[in-house]
Amino acid sequence: MQFQDKVVLVTGAAGGIGAGTAAAFAREGAKVMLADIDADQGGQRVAEVEAAGGQAAFRRCDVSKSEDMRALVEETIARFGRLDILHNNAGISGGTDFTADISEDDWDRVIAINLKGVWLGLKYAIPPMLEQGGGVIVNTASALALTVLPGSAHYNATKHAVAGLTKTAATEYARHSIRINAVCPGVIRTAMLQNAPNLAELEPRLLALHPAGRLGEVEEVVNAVLWLASDGASFMHGSLMTVDGGWTAA
Ligand code: NAD
Repeated sequence: MQFQDKVVLVTGAAGGIGAGTAAAFAREGAKVMLADIDADQGGQRVAEVEAAGGQAAFRRCDVSKSEDMRALVEETIARFGRLDILHNNAGISGGTDFTADISEDDWDRVIAINLKGVWLGLKYAIPPMLEQGGGVIVNTASALALTVLPGSAHYNATKHAVAGLTKTAATEYARHSIRINAVCPGVIRTAMLQNAPNLAELEPRLLALHPAGRLGEVEEVVNAVLWLASDGASFMHGSLMTVDGGWTAA
């Protein structure tokens, strides 16, 4: 029960990595606010946490909308009394077009969710953490914060930017006992992969990027996020922790 009575907010918590961290924090005793645009799946995840004896609530939130993020942080504090940990995780892939073929709409959507959404999480979570004397934020970046895949310029750009945002905010708030780090997963088996166009052709190419010889599982990223959020990571500020089967080391 290493997060007993901690208050945790997870964005993109209706599925994939976010659903995994929300459930794991709850198993470790935390009170968890799950946020997502998908209210049906979000409600389902809360029911699962409660069925396992955990404490959780859901609020619908589009992370790219300032008003949604502000209200989400406010409701978390109103309901659970404080905010100790934010897993700033919601993100989308945005397709496989090459740079010149990306539509302006797709560009704007990926930037709004993957980059502005992460910044809004920082913007609204940091002030209450400053007031209460500390906190922890884990951003979900990607191996694509450190390297690139052709056919996802907008996604690559946002994840590189999340790395810069993580390091900047970490250095700004380290003295105020707020630790800010990012996790950089390789390709993980979630809906983001399963819904990719041309999956049959894409999967072997992605597999070949990972020296481990396999893709990653949600729990392997969850373990890294929980550790970064724990007191065991007390001197970790501004790190980009890869969980990528060796992809970016190769
Ligand atoms: P996923 O599609 O399974 O889950 C993403 C969740 O975010 C979904 O529940 C979705 O409804 C939600 N979401 C989408 N747009 C939103 C918005 N505007 N506001 C709030 N919620 C929104 O994908 P995942 O693989 O779990 O992705 C989680 C994070 O991990 C993303 O930031 C993604 O970029 C990152 N990531 C994933 C992989 C991978 O291979 N799966 C690799 C590296 C990084």
